[in-house]
Amino acid sequence: MRQAFPNYQLKSGWNALLPDRQAQPALQGKQMADVVVIGAGFTGLACARRWQELAPNARVVVIDASEIGEGNPGRNSGFLLEIALAEDANPANMQRMLTCNSLTQTAMQSIAKDVVASGAAVDLERVGTYRAAASSAGLKSLSHYKQFLEEAGLPYRSLDQAQLRTELGTDFYQAGLYSPHCYLAQPAAVIRAIYSQLPDSISVFENTPALKLSKTGDQWTVTTDQGEISCSKLVLANNSFARELGVSRARMAAVYTYAGLTPRLDQDVLDSLGSVTNWGLLPSHRLGSTLRRTADGRLLVRSAHSYEGELATSKVTALLQDRLWRRFPSLKGQDFEHVWGGAVGITLNGAPVWGEQQPGLFISGGCNGGGTVKGTLLGKLLAESALGHSVPDVTGLFGSPSWMPPEPLRRIGFHANAALESWQGRQEL
Ligand SMILES: Cc1cc2nc3c(=O)[nH]c(=O)nc-3n(C[C@H](O)[C@H](O)[C@H](O)COP(=O)(O)OP(=O)(O)OC[C@H]3O[C@@H](n4cnc5c(N)ncnc54)[C@H](O)[C@@H]3O)c2cc1C
Repeated sequence: MRQAFPNYQLKSGWNALLPDRQAQPALQGKQMADVVVIGAGFTGLACARRWQELAPNARVVVIDASEIGEGNPGRNSGFLLEIALAEDANPANMQRMLTCNSLTQTAMQSIAKDVVASGAAVDLERVGTYRAAASSAGLKSLSHYKQFLEEAGLPYRSLDQAQLRTELGTDFYQAGLYSPHCYLAQPAAVIRAIYSQLPDSISVFENTPALKLSKTGDQWTVTTDQGEISCSKLVLANNSFARELGVSRARMAAVYTYAGLTPRLDQDVLDSLGSVTNWGLLPSHRLGSTLRRTADGRLLVRSAHSYEGELATSKVTALLQDRLWRRFPSLKGQDFEHVWGGAVGITLNGAPVWGEQQPGLFISGGCNGGGTVKGTLLGKLLAESALGHSVPDVTGLFGSPSWMPPEPLRRIGFHANAALESWQGRQEL
């Protein structure tokens, strides 16, 4: 089994681009709180913040195994989607999708508001996103997504190969869709900005991994590496690592995925790359690659997957280089400045693990690779629900996670499925 907290091989490239910051001290000795939130990601910070708003006299404590910006929330590709992911989009259930989209948009506005209020120079812009297909399998899912956008009355623009080449500078894709409902961000800067907007009354302990949970009477105790903290309400916002603390083992798995970020490219190279200078492209196939050109003139590629653990760095770098160079053959030989990986909590049917699991023990996780905005939403709703406020029907809207078989069947199933999907979508990798 993995250890109960992330310990990545490589540092987050996004965080490395930011100025150093002084981490909050780790939790030491014995402490008490009304609520402890494990995980200072999008989910955990939204939950803690809302909890304190609704219960201003409560002692709210957040602990994180890592540092703000360095952990998982600062490792993603920076797509903050205001509408459903292509895999979740369901034209047959439009009313439900529209409600989810509207809730998600409100969560996105709260992120944008925090970024502005922080006063920090954060690269966060509503530039929209492209989705593109390089094969018949990709074209099929693109057409499914187009149907969803049409039936939902959402604006989009179709692009052929030549238009994609003009705008993005690559011939790799046969067709694409552009939708304005997405922000692109420097995610480590965004999570730092959200953190900066927490009220001082919330205590945050960094470099504080939760190692074990126990319960005596109605009190939960979280054992950390240098201390312990007891509380009557405990929130697990640590995504797939909740399983190693004994929660949701039958519903969530961890898949690792990887990103590579180039240095700033020379101006003549940038000039050859197309007319749009800040863009993001999501794959139309589930195992395909994500691409970005950042506002400061870098390219990012996110690709490759592994089950329950990280691949060797040399293998990851070679895979990411291959994916970048296939899309931009003129950049063959261009190295990355940073390469890193991160764990994604996944469920079999894509539904989040959400709600009270045992008396006083709450969880929100398993956002299946799209949890920045959705996590913000579900973290906030979790606090409201735990404090007895009425909330939208999260299970009805986002589903409930299906049961997964135990190991070794789960691993075998994952590898068989990934092999099949990778083969079907091989031209999209
Ligand atoms: C390479 C990559 C690219 C991605 N791209 C995107 C994207 O573009 N858009 C998008 O929406 N999503 C993306 N994702 C997924 C995204 O990162 C997650 O969906 C999102 O971060 C979920 O937020 P969260 O707060 O629920 O969990 P996490 O971000 O996983 O945060 C959990 C926090 O809990 C902490 N933690 C874990 N275990 C413990 C423990 N035992 N004790 C204390 N703390 C603990 C971690 O350090 C972490 O800070 C990507 C992920 C990766 C790896």
